[in-house]
Amino acid sequence: MSISDNIKKITSSLPLNVTLVAVSKTKPNEDILEAYHAGQRVFGENKVQDLTKKWEELPKDIQWHFIGHLQTNKIKYLAPFVSLLHGVDSYKLLKAINKEAKKNNRIIKCLLQFHIAEESSKFGLSLKEAEEFLCSDDFAALKNVEICGVMGMATYTDDEIQIANEFKTLKDIFIKLKEKHFNNADSFSEISMGMSGDYPIAIEQGSTMIRVGSSIFGVRNYG
Ligand SMILES: *Cc1c(COP(=O)(O)O)cnc(C)c1O
Repeated sequence: MSISDNIKKITSSLPLNVTLVAVSKTKPNEDILEAYHAGQRVFGENKVQDLTKKWEELPKDIQWHFIGHLQTNKIKYLAPFVSLLHGVDSYKLLKAINKEAKKNNRIIKCLLQFHIAEESSKFGLSLKEAEEFLCSDDFAALKNVEICGVMGMATYTDDEIQIANEFKTLKDIFIKLKEKHFNNADSFSEISMGMSGDYPIAIEQGSTMIRVGSSIFGVRNYG
């Protein structure tokens, strides 16, 4: 199947409230354009340099999501144009994003990344860490970031029950934060979970945003 067939097949199977982020990391512009011509407008990358280059070269109505681990000193390259930052995993990073957003006269949308997997290697906050800063006056003063929801990655395993449980944990975190900290914020609405191997399970557990790479573009050689 071609890239455009894959896009059409996946999008036609999604509930209306679920956004497909086409993860184009390591893939050339021609592949991205094929997806674009099939109607796809939301793309995800995990390397700052690649994302910046693709933004410069590709159509300007693409919404670029950064899905990787962001280093503080690289925020400035993304701040002028990025649509959504998925991997905000510390308050220090959030404050630095606010600073760069302000310089660009923008409000940057962010998702808080939570650690839901069994593996210790995956980045992410705990609920306690997030609540600590969300309660602070210091956080309330950040006017150039908008927290739009949560993001997480399940353990890489064949155990579908474990995957479902981990996604449920993220949904529960979302509900708790919504009740306690974002009750009046309509913009706090996204649960970014699910990749090529597990997005149907993620959708069953309440995902609103899936990040799919290899099922669209084929296997990656690296990255
Ligand atoms: C690469 C990547 C994806 C997409 O992975 P596939 O298995 O190719 O769909 C999703 N989320 C993140 C954070 C990634 O780095």
